[in-house]
Amino acid sequence: MNLTGKKVAVLGCGRSGVSAARLALAKGAGDVCIFDSDPHASCADSSLRFVPGATEDDARNYAAELVVLSPGIEADIPWTLAFTAIGAPIIGEIELAYNYYPGRIIAITGTNGKTTTTALIEHILLQAGKTAKACGNYGYPFCELAMEPNAPEFAVLEVSSFQMETIHSFRPEVAIWLNFAPDHMDRYTKVEDYFNAKLRIFENMTEEQQAIIRVGENMPAIRPQVQEFSSVVGSGRLYYSQNYIMEAGRPLMGLRGTAMEQAHNAENSMAAILACRSVGLSDEVIEHGIRTFSPPGHRCETVAEMDGILWLNDSKSTNLHSTEAAVRSQTRPIILLAGGKDKGLDYSAINPMLAQKARCCIVFGQIADQLENTFSAVCKTVKVQTVEQAVAAAAQQAMRGDVVLFSPGTSSFDQFSGYVQRGQCFRNAVLRTLNL
Ligand code: ADP
Repeated sequence: MNLTGKKVAVLGCGRSGVSAARLALAKGAGDVCIFDSDPHASCADSSLRFVPGATEDDARNYAAELVVLSPGIEADIPWTLAFTAIGAPIIGEIELAYNYYPGRIIAITGTNGKTTTTALIEHILLQAGKTAKACGNYGYPFCELAMEPNAPEFAVLEVSSFQMETIHSFRPEVAIWLNFAPDHMDRYTKVEDYFNAKLRIFENMTEEQQAIIRVGENMPAIRPQVQEFSSVVGSGRLYYSQNYIMEAGRPLMGLRGTAMEQAHNAENSMAAILACRSVGLSDEVIEHGIRTFSPPGHRCETVAEMDGILWLNDSKSTNLHSTEAAVRSQTRPIILLAGGKDKGLDYSAINPMLAQKARCCIVFGQIADQLENTFSAVCKTVKVQTVEQAVAAAAQQAMRGDVVLFSPGTSSFDQFSGYVQRGQCFRNAVLRTLNL
């Protein structure tokens, strides 16, 4: 990619937009301007040219030769297309960074588990003495990494479907597909559009690269070599049985006592093992990394265990699939706390599992009525308004041997600024309730 003297429009003034603008300037672009349609938007780097409240006329007048689109903005809306007035291609921040990052790329996608797996692979690589950085959707923009004077050997790149919509030549050495379930239906009109956007992670890969995919994902034929994993006994190159990761009928690694023991985290671990093997690490080194790893907070995190009742904070569960995984991973009777914003999802799919594993569901937030109607068909359901009330109700319902699982299954924006604030609210309410 030759940016010398080019006129570049960066759409969206968030972290990745700012990084993209900086990288474009560093690589010789003649003119770089960030545009945002929000008149109240502000840009974190005042040295950059920035137009808040940009209109389609502003877009056409600028006459960009390259458009770099932030993942939060749709590519096919008139506002975005106005920037392509003179035929400029649209790429995303990932594609821009890919053209300049000199190292090796392990990319991770999936509906759930991306952040955990990205952090785990970075941890294993660092423990193995490699230089590596978790980036992309993970929080640190890939363009930032591409600008580092001593770029690490590995970019461990978490990618979302939105980021994959705007790639052209992006080709990781290893790509992980953790799982797929309907989500983001506020952005996509059809589930297939979400699936196909994610699938682009494999688009430019050849037989020389590795795709690591969960068994049963209904993948079309793809070019890279495929290695599969599963938490269902006996299927895939690696599978999980009785707390052991198994390979060819033999235990490869025990996860009991590690932070990755639950079935969904075992899947993340198996994906990480296959990826780290693909880039040349030994099983001993990988095992050490897994044993010394703790997943980031708010993901089935233990808040307290008191009077034989375990309290788990899974506030990062923002869709049905992650709640299903959290429920599936529990071995004790469950008091499930679920609720939040109404994202238009249908929750009846987890009813059979709740019928088997939940003693009680406590539902809260904007979606409480819908959840009450759905879950009460299979188990006792208590409706409350707030997370604090849900914790109080859980304390009344829970018995010795139970797990109280706060796994909301939808986003938090009806009552909170995000999953972190929601998780802290749950944690504080539990600690208060238990006098800890
Ligand atoms: P993402 O970055 O894809 O949102 P996270 O690692 O942040 O993934 O986890 C999000 C939610 O999904 C949490 O509730 C977590 O407990 C759950 N989760 C983690 N790994 C998996 C998995 N492999 N399958 C299903 N759910 C998972």
